[in-house]
Amino acid sequence: MAQHYAVEMSDAEWRKRLSPAAYEVLRRQGTEPPGTSPLLKEHRLGVFHCAACNWPLYSSKDKFESGTGWPSFTRPINDRAVGTETDRSLFMTRTEVHCAHCGGHLGHVFPDGPPPTGLRYCMNGVALSFQPGR
Ligand SMILES: [Zn+2]
Repeated sequence: MAQHYAVEMSDAEWRKRLSPAAYEVLRRQGTEPPGTSPLLKEHRLGVFHCAACNWPLYSSKDKFESGTGWPSFTRPINDRAVGTETDRSLFMTRTEVHCAHCGGHLGHVFPDGPPPTGLRYCMNGVALSFQPGR
């Protein structure tokens, strides 16, 4: 099942381009240790972009304190921001979330978020880069 994205690179190129921690999450579907992301304390107005390809993903307006230790959002910034896929690893069925532009793994979405969507986009901070403003 080859899926195609606007930004595509070989594994070796991604490895060169990303920090080891970002590579592990974005290209290897890893999970950062909870509570480690500096973005947990990011409360300025702005946009969270994909750390791999700079695609805009989430607005600070949709960020909320989930208490999980991972940056959490109620929805993506628009309907072209992310894609989802069913993930049956770790003996669970979860919905995987990835960047719609480069396919980089971001985290998962769960149906236990606050209004208005009732969704919790649980993101790895290392897969995001914050740009203040707007
Ligand atoms: Zn991306």
